[in-house]
Amino acid sequence: MTVSGLATPYGFQSFPNYTAGRQGNSINKIVIHHMATTDYDSVPGIWNSRQASAHYGIGQDGTIRSYVDEDNTAWHAGDWPTNLTSIGIEHANATGAPNYDIAQATIDSSAKLVADIANRYGLGTVVPYKNLFPHSDFVSTACPGQLKDKLQDIADKANAINNGGQSVPTQSATTVQPTSTGLSAIDKFKAGGDRFVLQGSFINNTCELQYGIYQSRADELSAVPFAWKDNGIPTKLLDDLSDPNGRSFNDGATVRFKPQYQRGTIDKYSVNANAVGIDFLDGNGVIWFDADKFWAHY
Ligand SMILES: [Zn+2]
Repeated sequence: MTVSGLATPYGFQSFPNYTAGRQGNSINKIVIHHMATTDYDSVPGIWNSRQASAHYGIGQDGTIRSYVDEDNTAWHAGDWPTNLTSIGIEHANATGAPNYDIAQATIDSSAKLVADIANRYGLGTVVPYKNLFPHSDFVSTACPGQLKDKLQDIADKANAINNGGQSVPTQSATTVQPTSTGLSAIDKFKAGGDRFVLQGSFINNTCELQYGIYQSRADELSAVPFAWKDNGIPTKLLDDLSDPNGRSFNDGATVRFKPQYQRGTIDKYSVNANAVGIDFLDGNGVIWFDADKFWAHY
C-alpha cells in the first residue's frame, strides 16, 4: 500500500476499473489530466460505469484525494505500457466548457504532489516530456486542457520544493483510515492485490525467548488472543529504534520491521479471526496480525 501523505483516500478503490500490481514494472513518470468537469465529487464514482481511473484527484481548493493505491495500475493514459509505469493525477476544473480553467490552488497542490512522487520514486529533476507528461502525449485527446501549458510551472514549483529539502512523509509511516469504501480490512487487502506495507514504528510490549527464538510481542499489531506461537514476531525481523545498536528490545522499546520485511504479500487470511497471515520466509512460518490494526498501521 502506497499513498501520498498529502492525500485523503476518497472512494478508495471502490470501483472495478484498475489492475492490481504493476506487472513487474517500476514507476518512472507522472501523467497529468483534467477532469473536464467542475464536479470534483463526481470522481471517482463515474469510474463505476466508465472504464477509467486515476491515482489522485486535486480539487479547486487544492485538496488532494487518493483513489487508487500507487502500487496498483490505474487506467488513465489510454496506453497500457504507460499505465504500468506511471502515476495519473486528475485535476478538477474551475470552469466548464469551453475554457475549462484550472484554479491556482489546484496547480500549487499538483506541484506538491508531483514533488512528493518524484522524490519517492527517485525521478530526479521534474522535466516536462521527460518524466511529467500531458495525457495528450499518449493518445489523441483534449485532456489535460489548459494544464498542458502549465507543465513547466508545475515542474518548476515541484523542483523548488524538492531542492528545498522539504520531503513529504508518505502515509506508509502514519495512520490512515481509508474507510470510505465500507470494505473490511481483509477486503481492502485483497482489492490491493494482497500487498502490504508496514514501514511505521510500533511498541515492543515485551520480548521473550519462545520456541527457541527471541520474539517480540506487539499488541499494536497482533491478533487477539495473543499466542507466542502464532503472533510473536522474531526480533531478527526488527530493528530496535530505541537502541543505537538496534538489538536491546527492552519492554516498551520502539521497534520497526527491517527494510527488507516492510513490504510484501499476505499469504493467508482468516475471515473469522479478522487476521492476516504473513510468512516472512525467515524459517519461522506464518505470523498472524489483526487485519484492522495492520491496515491502519502502514
Ligand atoms: Zn486525461
